[in-house]
Amino acid sequence: MQNLNEIEVKQVKGVGPKSLERLQELKIYTVADLLNHFPRSYDDFEVIDINHAEDGEKVTVIGDIVTEPVFQYYKGKRNRKMTRLTFKIRTNQAIIKVIAFNRAFLRGKINQGQEITVTGKFDRQFASITANELKLDRLENASVRPQYTLKSLPYITFTSIIKNALDEFGELANDELPTYLLERYRLISKKRLYSFAHTPKNREQIKQVFRRVKYEELLLYQLKIFYLKQVEYKREERYKKVFDQIKANEFINNLPFELTKDQMNAINDILGDLSKEQAMNRLLQGDVGSGKTVVAALSLYANYLAGYQGTLMAPTEILAEQHAKTLNDLFISYHLKIELLTSSVSKKQRSLILTRLKNHEIDILIGTHSLISEGVTFKRLGLGIVDEQHRFGVMQRKLLKDKGDSVDALFLSATPIPRTLALSTFGDMEISSIKQLPKGRKPVQTHLINSKYEERLLGFVRKIISLGQQVYVIAPLIEESDKIDIQNAVDIYEKYQTIFGERINIGLLHGKMKQEEKETIMGAFKNNTIQLLVSTTVVEVGVNVPNASLMVIVDADRFGLAQLHQLRGRVGRGEHQSYCILVCDHQSEKTLERLTVMTNTTNGFELAEHDLKLRGPGDFFGAKQSGLPEFKMADLVKDYKILEIAREDAKAIIESNEIHQNKDYLPLRLKLFKEIDEMGNRLD
Ligand code: ADP
Ligand code: MG
Repeated sequence: MQNLNEIEVKQVKGVGPKSLERLQELKIYTVADLLNHFPRSYDDFEVIDINHAEDGEKVTVIGDIVTEPVFQYYKGKRNRKMTRLTFKIRTNQAIIKVIAFNRAFLRGKINQGQEITVTGKFDRQFASITANELKLDRLENASVRPQYTLKSLPYITFTSIIKNALDEFGELANDELPTYLLERYRLISKKRLYSFAHTPKNREQIKQVFRRVKYEELLLYQLKIFYLKQVEYKREERYKKVFDQIKANEFINNLPFELTKDQMNAINDILGDLSKEQAMNRLLQGDVGSGKTVVAALSLYANYLAGYQGTLMAPTEILAEQHAKTLNDLFISYHLKIELLTSSVSKKQRSLILTRLKNHEIDILIGTHSLISEGVTFKRLGLGIVDEQHRFGVMQRKLLKDKGDSVDALFLSATPIPRTLALSTFGDMEISSIKQLPKGRKPVQTHLINSKYEERLLGFVRKIISLGQQVYVIAPLIEESDKIDIQNAVDIYEKYQTIFGERINIGLLHGKMKQEEKETIMGAFKNNTIQLLVSTTVVEVGVNVPNASLMVIVDADRFGLAQLHQLRGRVGRGEHQSYCILVCDHQSEKTLERLTVMTNTTNGFELAEHDLKLRGPGDFFGAKQSGLPEFKMADLVKDYKILEIAREDAKAIIESNEIHQNKDYLPLRLKLFKEIDEMGNRLD
């Protein structure tokens, strides 16, 4: 039987040289590509009463043309001739102005007094509709119509090509999904899928299309994850780590505090992984201040006891330095050699470190992304830890692992990842979660105010400082432009200086300052020479000043919940009751609702779920570097129920080895391997 993948698209009736070129622009080369070019959405032409329409809404209305239609001609881009058609209609007693472009062909056909159906975007203020559809009759309930991304290919050409392809080749559509899965979930066959998707008769058919495509996309995605997990993390016997458990226990017993239950569980998970045949690939997630560092330290210690080097990578220098200090303190009475490598390290010092590293004269190397730069060679790297892992891209994490053979990898995250996303994005990782904070922590009290309360806020700042405690003020985040963000911080800094004069020492911290400057300022804040620190989000990650008990966040609505939570985690680290004041003058209900969530909970897992629901996974992780897959129809958040089902199915398929042996799986297997190949190409 012929395969749609092997039939070139030019075989389809109606595809000439010109349309062929334009199809190729859309990466459509075969009939399979063509039929899989699904609509990006469907237009629904349900007629409504304009009096109930909202501003900006896409509407379809029927009315009488009450003014003589006017055609205006003008020059558009690249000197193209353009026309603009305007007229007014009466619909449900309202008079609405209609504007449409490029309708020269309607000249002489459209007249005052006619009935017309108009579809387009409604502007309430100007009582106008910018139309993309005009029908010169009464179109009561025109059905659904596919909308495609077509670049330069005309809609009519594309739909007629699609129709021809369906007629000629539709019967050849071959199902990748085995029949039992189609039956189990009552999914439509591939043949039906193509016809329903491109020539839908009603909404129900579209629903069927979405169900089928989403399931298939998510199943393939999960198959990939499980398949890669099966092959990728296998390692040879000799890389299993053997270490002295008694010594590891001694380390735990000598800590100045008792580990929480979740910390202990995480440690057991990790120590278990180190001695396994599969290389570790584990995510350790826990709220800010939940004590992930000590877990990381113990992992590094066990790795050291097994005779390996370890490394810890952090996203900022401040954080890397802090880790270096923490680890040096924790290991003070042990004989580990610890070094710090950042881009501020002098050339001479760097080359010394690299030589010692190569000779295994360094046991633990801490640093920023400079750890993964070329020339950093370990003698025997056994464990790589990445702190604040979402700050790093997929590639960077991979580079770190490639610094050794079968390296165990541990990723730390203070942005708790909602279960739905964890399942998908990190499907190839095991997850340990620290959900409780160490004993005796007082939850940070959070309040939402607007700038009318500024006087009271300033009074509160004064009071906190008079108690000998310290304050952070976070400048708003205007856009991804450092310049403007810094300007904001500078403005606020100057304002506070004017207000408080000489009585309080105020510091300023932002990302463009030189490392030494930053260090001096942070140092001064740490030892309370500075009482109030105005900062951009550079303090967001990890910084530890237990005496700081108040955090003011200006224009809090500009931050995502996950980020606000990170910021808030800078306070509440010491003995004092701590406060977080969110200042927001934005009155929209949605914004206030979002920020109110902050005042109601200090649980990062809850907040993350909220943030995800409100802003979607792209925002949550920072769009590009997230490594999140893109789907045609599936949505990792909204479709998490399908995702979970697909995940179970994928797991069963891979574990049973069916996919390799059973010929019913052949089409699925081919597709899976094709996608894995493409993935590999993207990575390298
Ligand atoms: P995070 O998870 O945000 O990285 P840290 O590892 O920086 O948190 O820990 C925050 C603080 O809590 C540190 O000062 C650390 O020494 C302390 N800490 C960690 N675990 C415990 C514990 N079980 N009991 C008391 N304090 C702890
Ligand atoms: Mg940390």
